[in-house]
Amino acid sequence: MPYKRNVYERAIYKEPAPIRDHENPFESMVKRFDIAAQILELDPGFYSYLVKPTRIHITAIPVVMDNGYIQMFDGYRVIHNEVLGPSKGGIRFAPDVTIEEVSALAAWMTWKCAIVGVPFGGAKGAIACNPREMSEGELERMTRRYTANLLDVFGPDKDIPAPDMNTNAQIMAWILDTYNMHVRANTNAVVTGKPIMLGGSHGRVEATGRGVMIVTKAAMRELNIDIEGSTVAVQGFGNVGSIAAKLLSEQGCTVVAVSDISGGYYNENGLDIEAMIAYCKDGNGTLEGYSNAQIISNSELLALEVDVLVPAAKEDQITERNAHEIKARIICEGANGPTSPAADKILSDNGVLVIPDILANAGGVTVSYFEWVQDRQGFFWTEARVNKRLDRMMSGAFDAVYKAAQNYQVTPRIGAYVLAIRKVADALKMRGIYG
Ligand code: GLU
Repeated sequence: MPYKRNVYERAIYKEPAPIRDHENPFESMVKRFDIAAQILELDPGFYSYLVKPTRIHITAIPVVMDNGYIQMFDGYRVIHNEVLGPSKGGIRFAPDVTIEEVSALAAWMTWKCAIVGVPFGGAKGAIACNPREMSEGELERMTRRYTANLLDVFGPDKDIPAPDMNTNAQIMAWILDTYNMHVRANTNAVVTGKPIMLGGSHGRVEATGRGVMIVTKAAMRELNIDIEGSTVAVQGFGNVGSIAAKLLSEQGCTVVAVSDISGGYYNENGLDIEAMIAYCKDGNGTLEGYSNAQIISNSELLALEVDVLVPAAKEDQITERNAHEIKARIICEGANGPTSPAADKILSDNGVLVIPDILANAGGVTVSYFEWVQDRQGFFWTEARVNKRLDRMMSGAFDAVYKAAQNYQVTPRIGAYVLAIRKVADALKMRGIYG
């Protein structure tokens, strides 16, 4: 097998990290940050403080694989900002993850928390691995060693991980257990998105998809689109896409298309989302072989004539190559970073209302905050209470972003960046610079 340099070595050898497409996610974040900073006439010192991650941790994770051999994995935890509170953000497992991607995702967490008004900073973690090729035991050993390596970073008042792409409540349970074994305590607020029986919150699993539904409805109201009979296409059928599709169809939308790694599925009269979720669960976790729909490609799905398009898969899906083909009136970004800066301009020129990722998918971290609050109180809420509070915070954030966009005559994305950066900059000013 050819030897592949890891990210640390790439930095030493000055090789560019592989970029999934022509956009580097961190540069994409900075491009939007620059526009907002100009609007805010942000002080240059504040600019350099806020744009950069505070800390980048890179750690080598040795794992004894089932075959007895040791395999090394690259682990990352980027703390982007801690001005508003302990840093918060998920951990993803993906084979092609890069430090630029993790840094962008960490920065987006900072802006997300600021927009919805939860008292956290932003962070993100990742392990470069292919979880589909690993056994449960290998995943557990890798997760525990990653946690042990970063023990000084994590903590309920320091940095709080959560699930993200390819990680789930079980992985959070292993992190919780490893952390608590080391610190000789039983602190469940060290991670969120954990199983309910270990101090998880009702409604956390559905929270991101529910948030997508709430802001989509708010956007439809602004554009006078009747929810009943409106059409929706959802790219991605994981935790975010499948729940968003389910909740939007419950609200009266006709979900005409969804997709996952196995392809796109279309039915002009509406798909049976409940049946598709059940099919996924019964099968191998994908929609492969689902027969009650017409098969379409990913690019066909993105170009469908629908009222709402929900990209809920991964970064860099809507770029200058395909943005002009989009016919949806609203794009609600369930994924982080699905649209490139060049595509932003095309979509805005074409009058598409984009609900930006840092608002649209903030439902997850909002309920993570509720979970952290419940853990620290040792008092747990009903699902109805969680959902009601989520609705209030997401609706409030949507209104604030929409108003900012109108005030500054910018897109909702730039409006969201302006609000977020102003909030963190104001807090930084109050705290002052130590030293
Ligand atoms: N991974 C989720 C996100 O990207 C949730 C993070 C959290 O709950 O801390 O927003």
